Amino acid sequence: MQRKSHLALAIVVLLSLSSPVYAAAPKAGSKCTKAGQTSTSAGIKYTCVKSGKKLVWNKGVALKKSEPAPVPSAETKAEVKNLLSSDPRITPLSALTSMDICKTVDKTPDYAWGGKILHRNGFPRPDTSVAGKKSAKILVVPIIFNDLPFREEKIQRGQVFSSDVDLLNETIPLIKESFKSLSVQRFEVEIDVLPKSQWLVFNRDNPLSGVWGVDNFTTLMEIIEKEKPDFNFDGYDTFAFISGNGLPGQMGLGSAQASHPRVKNSKSGFINAILMLGGITNTTLWVHEFGHSLFSFEDLYLFSQASSGTTRQKLGNVSVPSKWDLMSDSNKVSLLGWNKFLIGWLYDSEVRCISEQKSTIHYLSNRETSNDTKLLTINLAPGVTLAAEAKNASGTDKGLLLYLIDTYTSHGEGPVLTQNSLITKGQSKSWLGWQFNVLDSNEEGVLIEAVKTDIDKFVPPPPKPADNNPGQPTSPIRVTRGEVVPNGSLQGRATWNVTGHESYRLYVTDVVDFQKVYFETGYVNDSRNPLVIDIKGLVCKKEFRTMTEFFTEKNGKGERLVMPSFQLRDLPCP
Ligand SMILES: [Zn+2]
Repeated sequence: MQRKSHLALAIVVLLSLSSPVYAAAPKAGSKCTKAGQTSTSAGIKYTCVKSGKKLVWNKGVALKKSEPAPVPSAETKAEVKNLLSSDPRITPLSALTSMDICKTVDKTPDYAWGGKILHRNGFPRPDTSVAGKKSAKILVVPIIFNDLPFREEKIQRGQVFSSDVDLLNETIPLIKESFKSLSVQRFEVEIDVLPKSQWLVFNRDNPLSGVWGVDNFTTLMEIIEKEKPDFNFDGYDTFAFISGNGLPGQMGLGSAQASHPRVKNSKSGFINAILMLGGITNTTLWVHEFGHSLFSFEDLYLFSQASSGTTRQKLGNVSVPSKWDLMSDSNKVSLLGWNKFLIGWLYDSEVRCISEQKSTIHYLSNRETSNDTKLLTINLAPGVTLAAEAKNASGTDKGLLLYLIDTYTSHGEGPVLTQNSLITKGQSKSWLGWQFNVLDSNEEGVLIEAVKTDIDKFVPPPPKPADNNPGQPTSPIRVTRGEVVPNGSLQGRATWNVTGHESYRLYVTDVVDFQKVYFETGYVNDSRNPLVIDIKGLVCKKEFRTMTEFFTEKNGKGERLVMPSFQLRDLPCP
């Protein structure tokens, strides 16, 4: 047996070597495979020609040394050039907003780790992330339970006759390739597999769960700490714990998760980790979990639907980005431009930022390999971005894609929502205080105009109510009394007893749809106490929600205190 396998290996090596050697140095009269094919060797260019019934290399033509590259004629130049990308109407960089404004923070109130907020959907990226780096190192750690071996011997499972080791070896190159293609060669992973002698063998049955949402990491880390206290957790950007694929129908399999567990045996005291239970060949699921562990990405699907098992529902004319991003659907090998921007796979030079400009024009390329602009970001408020990018899939998936990144919305509740239909040449779309007009498009991208409007302006939601509101003792702003009452025809009046503020902002919205704004003061510099604010432009027989924010500094800067909403209702019709 031993000799046979050595022999087989030798033959494979020979075969794979023989053809490139042959192709690299053709000889006049020797066989070739395709008429017209050319090959250059030692300064002679050979062409494959038909000689009788055979295909052979001709005697060749000597090449001049340093032959100048052919100069394209004016005509071919015009064909190659993408006119849209150099359209004179494009707003110059100098008229845009500084990129720092669009590289906005994450406002999600959860996800503190060790007392530190992990900015999962904004800038800067968490310390635990490899964002901005060109590569990452991953260690695959097989875990073995009495009832769940990591098989080296082949068994039949469904149609497949293989071992767990085979499946892993087949999948690793696919994972590496996925990162290369997703990042367009801007990032790659190195994947080591722990040698068999160091696999984590536990003398117990599998205690882990295959049910979505059950935290398996706490259990796993407890067992490792107890039974494998010497296991060293240094030197890798992610530890990938994987079980065998088990037998068809076996319990405790079918889930995958990522975490940043604390560990004793490591310099930093924590690791980035993923756990794959019975999903060795699910390449896109690995990539999704590495999205969490390497880049601190959020899940973009809805947890409520994952736990109830219902299918994705549309939220009006927007939905979670299942079609466009693997953090929303782990069967997809694609990422939204915003996610690529977060981790440095889109460079700052490929992203444009606007915030207050009345009207601007942009070219957005759908060619991932180009260095053209690929993403337009509009900062609506700190932590909230409206984004636009060009898509070039077939049929209705071609055109301008608009989406909202609202970091006030938590992980699992839809922080990123995409418009269901793309905008094509000649079409317009108004959304959250901005109108987008697609002026022109071609195979490579779109030329768009972004116009600021007053329609459906975005209003940041109030923070989750604190226990001690109003008058939080930690805030330098103190509110002792407040009321908002009707005052004359379709008007209202807010009165606050407040100290410690330098500016305020009040707005009135629909009670259900906070995006529908009826009145807004903007930031008003006013430190008076009491503070009286007149509200105008309301409609009759309707309920409104009012919100007042106070700031410790002028122009809406400094610390903010948000007062709970008061309702204004049933204004009489004039
Ligand atoms: Zn996930």
